[in-house]
Amino acid sequence: MFRLILLGPPGAGKGTLASTLSVKFNAPHISTGSVFRRNIKEGTRLGMRVKKYMDKGELVPDEIVINIVTDRLDEDDCATGFLLDGFPRTVHQAEELDKYLESRGLAIDRVIDLVADEELLMQRMINRRVCKSCGRIYHVITMPPKQEGICDVCGGEIYQRADDTEETVRNRFAVYQSQTAPLIEYYRKAGNLLAIDGSGTPDETLELVVEALGV
Ligand code: AMP
Repeated sequence: MFRLILLGPPGAGKGTLASTLSVKFNAPHISTGSVFRRNIKEGTRLGMRVKKYMDKGELVPDEIVINIVTDRLDEDDCATGFLLDGFPRTVHQAEELDKYLESRGLAIDRVIDLVADEELLMQRMINRRVCKSCGRIYHVITMPPKQEGICDVCGGEIYQRADDTEETVRNRFAVYQSQTAPLIEYYRKAGNLLAIDGSGTPDETLELVVEALGV
C-alpha cells in the first residue's frame, strides 16, 4: 500500500493520474483543488473564503489548506494509504504534513514529480474541461466526451474551470515556480522523489509511473 504525493506544475496530469491510481490501489484520491471547487459550488463559508485566491491563480493560505488535509487524513479510509494531488504546494505545507505523519509513526512512500514543458501544459489547460459532478477530466481535442458537454461516466455537465484561462494559467505557472518548485529539492533530499515524464498521453504516463513504483 502506498502513501503518495503527486507533484508537478498545473496541467501536468496529477488529477488524471491520481484518479487512475486511486482505483488501481484502492486508495482515496485527495485533491485540495477539488475540495475547494466543491465548496465554492455549494456556497459554503470555506468556498467563499477561497474563491478569491483561486480565481486569480493564487495559493489559498497554508493554515486553511493544512487543516483540511490533516482532517481528511484522519478518516478511516486513509489508514492504509492515500494519494495527495495538489498538496503540499509550499515547503511549509510539506513540513506540516511530515509533522502530522511522524506523530502517527507514518511517512510518505514516494513523491511523483510529473515533468513537462510549460507551453505544452498551457495547451492542455486551455483545452481542459471537467465534469461538474464527478470531476472527470476531458480535453477538447485529444479526449473529448462522446456527447458534447455531457460526462461519459456520470452524465454530469462538463465545464471549463474559471482558472483555466490563459491569463490565470500564466499566473499559476509563476506561483508554481516560486512557491511549489522548491518542494522538488525538499523531497529529493528526503530520498523519495521519482521524476516522471508527464508530456505523453495519460496511458503513457501511467505506464512510466507503474514501472517506477515497481507495482
Ligand atoms: P488544482 O485543482 O490542484 O489545480 O488547484 C486549484 C487551485 O486551488 C490552486 O490554483 C489554488 O488556488 C488552490 N489550491 C489547491 N491546492 C492548494 C494547496 N495545497 N495550497 C494552496 N492552494 C491550493
